[in-house]
Amino acid sequence: MENKADIGLIGLGVMGSNLALNIAEKGHRVAVFNRTTSRTDAFYGQAGSLRERIVPCHTIEALAEAIRPPRPVIVMVQAGQAVDGQIALLRSVLSARDIVVDAGNANFRDTMRRFAELKDSGLTFIGMGVSGGEEGARHGPSIMVGGTEESWRRVEDVLTAISAKYEGEPCAAWLGTDGAGHFVKTIHNGIEYADMQMIAEIYGMLRDGLGLSAKEIAPVFAGWNRGRLNSYLIEITATVLAADDPGTGSPVVDIILDRAGQKGTGKWSVIEAQTLGVPATAIEAAVAARVLSAMKGERTAAEAVFGVPATRLAGGRKALLADLELALFAGKIAAYAQGFAVMDAASKEFGWNLPLPTIAKIWRAGCIIRSQFLGRIAEAFGTSDSAANLLMAPAFVEMMKEAHPSLRRIVAQAVEAGLPVPALSSALAYFDSYRQGRGTSNLIQAQRDFFGAHGFERVDAEGAFHGPWGSGG
Ligand code: NAP
Repeated sequence: MENKADIGLIGLGVMGSNLALNIAEKGHRVAVFNRTTSRTDAFYGQAGSLRERIVPCHTIEALAEAIRPPRPVIVMVQAGQAVDGQIALLRSVLSARDIVVDAGNANFRDTMRRFAELKDSGLTFIGMGVSGGEEGARHGPSIMVGGTEESWRRVEDVLTAISAKYEGEPCAAWLGTDGAGHFVKTIHNGIEYADMQMIAEIYGMLRDGLGLSAKEIAPVFAGWNRGRLNSYLIEITATVLAADDPGTGSPVVDIILDRAGQKGTGKWSVIEAQTLGVPATAIEAAVAARVLSAMKGERTAAEAVFGVPATRLAGGRKALLADLELALFAGKIAAYAQGFAVMDAASKEFGWNLPLPTIAKIWRAGCIIRSQFLGRIAEAFGTSDSAANLLMAPAFVEMMKEAHPSLRRIVAQAVEAGLPVPALSSALAYFDSYRQGRGTSNLIQAQRDFFGAHGFERVDAEGAFHGPWGSGG
């Protein structure tokens, strides 16, 4: 019995293999299984001294046999049908009280469905978001758990042990029932899309607006990483900009095709934001920018027709760099405000009671958007009278008051120069619309009433009214 594993893991791809090594390193015995058995053997062969805590299994039956009941099994395979396939396999070998943990990037609606399907099976299901890529999985990811609180208690020890730590605090938490963990992970990725896109837009302004080389831009980001923008994404931006391609000697970024990939979490964030009726314009712009980036052929043809904008950015370089840093910061605040607003709305819609300060805290280390900035967000949402929107939290009001004039100047300059800044300009438009007491949708309502008799409210009386359009509509 002593030699039985504490936990099982299915799927020894990039994430699963690193997670298994992480689990073993933290002192837990882990049984592993992979559809392609040669991968299991290769993994075991390369596990070094951690091999003594790893039990390689060639069949699902062997995996089930190797784990001490009640058996927790992490499934880390490609999201979608592969997960359903592995759950079906597990159902044939597991028994009541065993726990299946889907740790891939599932769509939270699939997770909700799987909860419903497993409800009467006796098995416990957990939908778990994991962020941090390969490195995070190996040494400490950020872990977002959805399921019953009781099921979390049963896996809490191992999950907190393998998670990242921020000043000693584990970046793993139970966030709510059923799809809560995967939903939060999805929005994490949506925010990540916006953050990366805005960084890329600033890079574009430095490259095409100021004519700087990758080597010259790298120290700009490295410098910003020591200030308010300090974050993993800014840090790796500086690192990749400084890297040379061994074959050509050119900066690696200059030989990488400008066509971005995506796997779906950004798109899901946008779909859910729209469904919940929450504006997430910076995330939407970031997803659209990736789609447009993939249309390389069309873009090249359009450039041949419309020409390349020749305008360089105006103003002294020092002032411009200071503005670019603050513009990126303002855009970042707006994007995070949107992401948290989406989670707040989903929390109400699905009855999750998502702990927003805890989410900000477990994102401070381990995950891709990790930064100190998230500590400020945790503080802002942690007060008893916390604002409905991050933009209205007192500390963020101050930050935004300082930063938004720079965002305005930078967006204006980019527009003038013909440089695309879709996420930054969306963030600015969101901010300007959000802080406009009297907007322009009075006209929208008049138009709607004119052509569809939808009615409107008045500023000076209660009730529903129609305009004096006669039968003109
Ligand atoms: P990966 O390296 O491509 O590995 C995929 C794994 O899924 C392999 O073990 C593969 O087994 C297995 N698999 C695929 N289709 C299967 C099927 N139909 N039946 C059984 N097993 C199947 O993928 P990964 O990067 O580790 O990602 C795994 C999950 O983690 C995904 O949901 C991904 O979105 C998520 N994730 C990835 C990252 C990241 O940075 N890569 C970060 C967070 C979350 P075979 O060896 O038999 O093909």
